Amino acid sequence: MTGSRFAGLDLDGTLHTGLAETAYAAADFGGIVSHVPAAVLRAGSVEDISAVLSVAAEHGIPVVARGRGHTSYGQAQVRDGLVLDLGDLATVHRIEKDHVVVDAGITWDALLAKTLEHGLTPRVLTDYLGTSVGGTLSAGGIGGTSHRYGVQTDNVLSLDVVTGDGVLRTCSPTESPDLFHAVLAGFGRCGVIVRATLPLIPAPGRVRRVKAYYPTAAELLTRQRELLADGRFDFLQGEILPGPEGWLYLLDAAVYYTAAEPDDRTLVERIGYDAGRDTIEDLGYREFATRLDDTVTYLESIGDWQAPHPWVDLFLPDRATDTFVDGIMSGLTQADLGASGLILVYPVPSAVLNTRLFRIPGGDTIFLVAALRTAGSLEIAREMVESNARWYATALDLGGTRYPIGALPFTGADWRNHLGETYQPLFDAKARYDPGNLFPA
Ligand SMILES: Cc1cc2nc3c(=O)[nH]c(=O)nc-3n(C[C@H](O)[C@H](O)[C@H](O)COP(=O)(O)OP(=O)(O)OC[C@H]3O[C@@H](n4cnc5c(N)ncnc54)[C@H](O)[C@@H]3O)c2cc1C
Repeated sequence: MTGSRFAGLDLDGTLHTGLAETAYAAADFGGIVSHVPAAVLRAGSVEDISAVLSVAAEHGIPVVARGRGHTSYGQAQVRDGLVLDLGDLATVHRIEKDHVVVDAGITWDALLAKTLEHGLTPRVLTDYLGTSVGGTLSAGGIGGTSHRYGVQTDNVLSLDVVTGDGVLRTCSPTESPDLFHAVLAGFGRCGVIVRATLPLIPAPGRVRRVKAYYPTAAELLTRQRELLADGRFDFLQGEILPGPEGWLYLLDAAVYYTAAEPDDRTLVERIGYDAGRDTIEDLGYREFATRLDDTVTYLESIGDWQAPHPWVDLFLPDRATDTFVDGIMSGLTQADLGASGLILVYPVPSAVLNTRLFRIPGGDTIFLVAALRTAGSLEIAREMVESNARWYATALDLGGTRYPIGALPFTGADWRNHLGETYQPLFDAKARYDPGNLFPA
């Protein structure tokens, strides 16, 4: 019934109704919640989006934007509403020496391939590049170079947004800044990002990557703090992963270079590097940026990529990170993360994190602590979600925040608490730009 409201529109893209054609939009990477929409528009143009939003406003139909559906708990789903699938709006319009103008539905992988043709790269890439530009700009987008440049939403020059009233608007830090700040990391509450202008920098030719393993979380965190301070690595991350005799605490760091090769001895100075155990490898930049591709292919082949993913991403203040990590590691088993599960842990200085809706703890440095869990069944997934909620409660007590891409029930009150002083400006902007309240509250 709802879907038929859109019948008769002259669209450049295609409108889909009926379960067979819309089922994919009721699923996401999390595979835990499923809200079946009444219709999916595979948008073929910006005009399509304005047209369907007018109809949605007339009939009070809820709307959500979808990039690649890689959030984990229904963030890009809407029950009985309209999903705006941006996947076909993926054109790179212009590449200049220091910026690119690109449609929001493009994946970061496709965008990087294009910018590299010009010897350029976005400053920050997420670990996996199959997400869309609009999807990560609606969330944050943290990666191994975030300690230098902040998250992806800190690296945006301007956006074109079709707001809930159907109007196409351009916004930037100086033009309609209220909209700009309500859209970046705003999870699509005010409108749909259709185009972005992003800064580019010269791409390095190669990457020298160091992996060093430590016996304890305390040692890894200490090394990461030292490396953050001495700035020797362009890329700085870390992982906690299962080893043959217990958990391994891995420093994953890299320098980017083009002409002069880095000196390996200087690179591993004072980090407790053990040549018999640790590794140094040299990779092409694109090879490094797409380093997860082989893992994804493998996980697809064994069915783990398609299994439920109750991921949780938290930010801890530096002073509480050791306590938090010790707490979650005490008694943690591989089963708690699933067969291919692991925990990401790495620091970012707060000074580079300036996106208003990207909520971080206080203090000079924050740590991302993210459990990338895979569940063998829906029942196990639900238990893992409960565990996520317990971790989050502990993080909150320690002054932490969450990165809302993961699998964690979140009530309106939780959102209000999470958004803090940014709640009112966000909802003022929502009232202005999405007066029909079509997009998620
Ligand atoms: C394997 C994997 C690795 C990941 N690695 C990282 C990582 O390293 N760093 C990191 O930060 N994140 C990472 N993520 C999380 C991912 O970046 C976010 O979940 C991101 O939001 C997903 O992008 P998407 O295109 O799939 O968005 P979707 O899941 O489709 O949408 C996410 C949210 O954004 C909204 N939205 C989507 N497109 C638009 C638009 N054009 N306009 C307005 N709102 C929109 C949706 O309504 C929804 O609220 C990873 C996820 C996976 C599955």
